[in-house]
Amino acid sequence: MDDPERNTKSGENQFEALINSQKAFFKDGKTRDIKSRISRLKKLYNALKQHEQELIDAVHADFRKPAFETYATEISLVLDDIKFVLRRLPRLMRKKRVKSNLASWPARSCILYEPYGVTLIIGAWNYPILLILLPLIGAIAAGNTVVLKPSELSFNTSSLLKKILGSLFEKDYLAVLEGGPEVTSALLKQPFDYIFFTGSPRVGKIVMEAAARTLTPITLELGGKSPCIVDRDANLTRAADRIVWGKLVNAGQTCVAPDYLYVHEEIKEFFVEKLKQVIRKKYGEDPEKSPDYARIINDRHYNRLKKLLSGVQILAGGEMDEGERYIAPTIVDDVNWSDPLMKEEIFGPILPVLTFRDLDDVIRQIKDQPKPLALYYFSSSKKKQQKIMQEISFGGGCINDTLLQFSNSELPVGGVGNSGVGQYHGEESFYTFSHKKSIVNKSTWMDVPLRYPPYKGKLKWLKIIFRH
Ligand code: NAD
Repeated sequence: MDDPERNTKSGENQFEALINSQKAFFKDGKTRDIKSRISRLKKLYNALKQHEQELIDAVHADFRKPAFETYATEISLVLDDIKFVLRRLPRLMRKKRVKSNLASWPARSCILYEPYGVTLIIGAWNYPILLILLPLIGAIAAGNTVVLKPSELSFNTSSLLKKILGSLFEKDYLAVLEGGPEVTSALLKQPFDYIFFTGSPRVGKIVMEAAARTLTPITLELGGKSPCIVDRDANLTRAADRIVWGKLVNAGQTCVAPDYLYVHEEIKEFFVEKLKQVIRKKYGEDPEKSPDYARIINDRHYNRLKKLLSGVQILAGGEMDEGERYIAPTIVDDVNWSDPLMKEEIFGPILPVLTFRDLDDVIRQIKDQPKPLALYYFSSSKKKQQKIMQEISFGGGCINDTLLQFSNSELPVGGVGNSGVGQYHGEESFYTFSHKKSIVNKSTWMDVPLRYPPYKGKLKWLKIIFRH
């Protein structure tokens, strides 16, 4: 296929041809047996190891992400997830026997996990390896074919992924298509069997609308403003280290980064000082010179963040360098919910600080906002920890840490409400890309005639048997 992204109409025709060839491949049953699934996952694992340095260089070229961060927050998570799924795949693929109920007796009942067919995975740019390959593991494990559409903003990584994956798999099984919204829009007209999207709630709505036209099932991994609450009884040294890390890894361009801080008013001054100290300790007096601090992905996002900082009261940082697309780790004071900073997901190294006296007020204010993707609460009180976790609805989060809910294949990841639909990681990725087919295998040696007409006189017996 020669560059369908260039010309939308011929692109659409070529997409149609690609989807048809993937449908034929799928119908031939070439994705289904466990051996081929395992061998494809192993190929992916080995390719990641083999191309590790190239991948690190590509992400660095995209937004100067430090090598350590690319390995720790992308490559290593993908490798771990492949190993995790490989260990469990035989059990996951097995039919799951369940109890038969009285209505179906005598019978055996089970759930079969069936691949959807031809799937589309659309990725975001901010973790350009992770957000494409992590869902891909689920799609392969569940026995689907895949079209991948990585982000056009992280183009170095996207074109490298296309090269690597193109050398591993035939296009009828897995194809990588580069390009922006025009390519996604054309792809969304195709009859996929499943769509997995990672990106903003704005584009998520476009994807959901397109999927609604063909009743295609979807997962939407979206974003939003994730709160981070620091209570007065927290271990403030640990809290400062972990919040600075969670906010500044990837220069704040992390979907589950703490978006803003709610600090108990009694400890605010002390805690902000601690945050400043930690930033200095980790990134030096001039973070622009630190090799461990990434850049903003493009000029549009740089200018968006610059605008968010105009007219605000800066407690630390605030320095910018347009040519470098550098924005210093910045703490902002005196913020309230009517400020532009609090109206959109920040997605950058800016941390607004709000204060509270009463935890119930914080709960009320967060509940007034769309449901966040993540929430972090720092406190040593078990009772208050429980209260926050139970009373506020959010995708997932941590008590006394940040981001780590994303690192464990045992934990499903996904948003709720405005922050997403559906979940993945580990086993959940397998289930996400599988249709659960319920089967009742009924015996023929006898039949209970109660269900058949004529019904006269049977209702009483139905109620007795079912104890209603
Ligand atoms: P985005 O929504 O702008 O883009 C995501 C994908 O959609 C890209 O592949 C892009 O090419 C495509 N796209 C963009 N505009 C489109 C349009 N009009 N029509 C069709 N397709 C279009 O998001 P982004 O800037 O790449 O990523 C940032 C957002 O993603 C943030 O909101 C962040 O929180 C969220 N995010 C969520 C997760 C998660 O796991 N929940 C992970 C990373 C990022």
